[in-house]
Amino acid sequence: MRRIIVFVSFLIFASPLCAGDKQAALKTQNVIVVTLDGFRVQEFFGGADDALMNKQFGGIKDLDGLKRRYVRPTTEERRAALLPFFWDEIAKKGQIFGDRTKKAPTRLTNGLKFSYPGYSEIFCGFADPAIKSNAKKANANLSVLEFLHGKPAYKDKVAAFCTWDVFPFIFRSERNGLKVHTDWKPIDDAPLTERQRAMNETLKVLPRYWPDNGFDVISMAYAREHLLRHKPRVLYLGLGETDEWGHSRRYDLYLDAANNADRYLAELWQTLQKMPEYKDKTSLIVTTDHGRGDTRVDWTDHGAKVPLAEFIWIAVLGPDTPPLGVRENIETTQSQMAATIAHLLGEDFVAANPKAAAPLPGVGQKQEK
Ligand SMILES: [Zn+2]
Repeated sequence: MRRIIVFVSFLIFASPLCAGDKQAALKTQNVIVVTLDGFRVQEFFGGADDALMNKQFGGIKDLDGLKRRYVRPTTEERRAALLPFFWDEIAKKGQIFGDRTKKAPTRLTNGLKFSYPGYSEIFCGFADPAIKSNAKKANANLSVLEFLHGKPAYKDKVAAFCTWDVFPFIFRSERNGLKVHTDWKPIDDAPLTERQRAMNETLKVLPRYWPDNGFDVISMAYAREHLLRHKPRVLYLGLGETDEWGHSRRYDLYLDAANNADRYLAELWQTLQKMPEYKDKTSLIVTTDHGRGDTRVDWTDHGAKVPLAEFIWIAVLGPDTPPLGVRENIETTQSQMAATIAHLLGEDFVAANPKAAAPLPGVGQKQEK
């Protein structure tokens, strides 16, 4: 009987006459995209790495505290201790791509394994060989955010909050008017809410530890206020601390940054489910721009010459993503992100940008009752 049902539903899905209906049947009306810069597959799938839990290779200050927070007997417990929202919520109700132990690697295709090429691949849907540096040069390519912003239904309903100051160039926002907030700039959104004002004041007194990259907690707070006030349909959050602490060889702060990002996402998801504009019609998709080295020495680094830094992960949660959990036997790429974001909203990015890779398989499907 089950086989017959599967076969019949295949016929329905495969029928070209129903293609439009299938799209119309998607529940997603909003998409939240989040990136954790340079957060490795090693910790994403394995939790805290024992080889780096020391002063010499991990630069750890409070080893006992760190062990208490993140070391557990099994891999499953370890990764859930580090990333409870990803493993207790997304992995159970959504999908996770990139587990190499399950023959499901996710790779970036740009070969350079650093940020601008990675973010361009994520949002434009392909690796552009002309992008060879992190220089503040306007992207020559259409991003899925600009594509959506250009449609009447999304006009001024797309916003990005990012810690890194290169994002306005990656999204060429000067040209297309996309709202992109970055790094150490106070928010300009008069009349300011109490929280926006408080964050602007806090920004003034925080240590400018990285001149080109702000703290995640600030971008997150600005994004949350934007969400409550302006109800965007597409919201991008670019968090950068994992990469910065990684380069500084501070494994403790790298893990804490990931753990905090997980908490922000859990809180954001709870907030969304209390808002009628978002409840049960919002999809969340989370990934990273690149991996990092695999050894005790080069885990801090990434780039074309760093082996295994091409491996990344992608997590998806929402009403149109069947709960397949950790995907197995499926190879995917970073370049599939852009079309997936559009596809979840029932839009076809590949038609607008034929170089873009196809959406992720199994994401953005009408679900059986
Ligand atoms: Zn980096």
